[in-house]
Amino acid sequence: MTFSSLGLIDPLVRKLEELGYAKPTPVQAQAIPAVLAGRDLMAAAQTGTGKTAGFAVPLLQRLTLAGVVAPQCVRVLVLVPTRELAEQVYASFRSYGGNLPLRSFVAYGGVPIEPQISKLRKGLDVLVATPGRLLDLQTQGAVKFEQVQTLVLDEADRMLDLGFERELDLLLMTMPKQRQTLLFSATFSDAIRAMAKTMLKDPVSVEV
Ligand code: AMP
Repeated sequence: MTFSSLGLIDPLVRKLEELGYAKPTPVQAQAIPAVLAGRDLMAAAQTGTGKTAGFAVPLLQRLTLAGVVAPQCVRVLVLVPTRELAEQVYASFRSYGGNLPLRSFVAYGGVPIEPQISKLRKGLDVLVATPGRLLDLQTQGAVKFEQVQTLVLDEADRMLDLGFERELDLLLMTMPKQRQTLLFSATFSDAIRAMAKTMLKDPVSVEV
């Protein structure tokens, strides 16, 4: 199996080759075609499985093929539990999307909010964020979710463990109902299953 055979376009395949990714991991083989097709996803995947490229690469492709749209909007929103993961996922988007004319940004708490507000006002395609800081940014009017096409919940179990359920509920209330949602979690507790049930429409299950 090759990245091309999963439906990825040349600039992305070349970038993955450059990074030394010889072939898709099992998570990528399952996730990439489903994400490209616009499906929802419920994925049981730990760190180290290649899950980040499994969602970042096909989402970059969808954004590219959709073309340039008005600034001021977030089209892909990735929620993560910690600033460390936020930086990692953001670095992945930047590295895989290096050949593409897309704007991405990362926002988490524990650092001044003003630079984040001015950056967000300039508009962007991909935002990676932790739930608490994102809610603050939204409350201050720095970011709007009307244009969100895809919502990714990465390490959803850790987001619940860290007590972000209320923030997630509040953020979700203002997102379009018509959207693609990808849920990644290392474990599937009753709470995660309940969340999946309310958030996902006819999801493709990915297990490795
Ligand atoms: P992740 O599970 O997303 O945290 O990725 C784990 C590591 O695997 C990262 O360092 C990636 O750069 C690397 N990686 C992801 N996909 C591939 C692949 N298809 N081939 C080789 N390495 C990969």
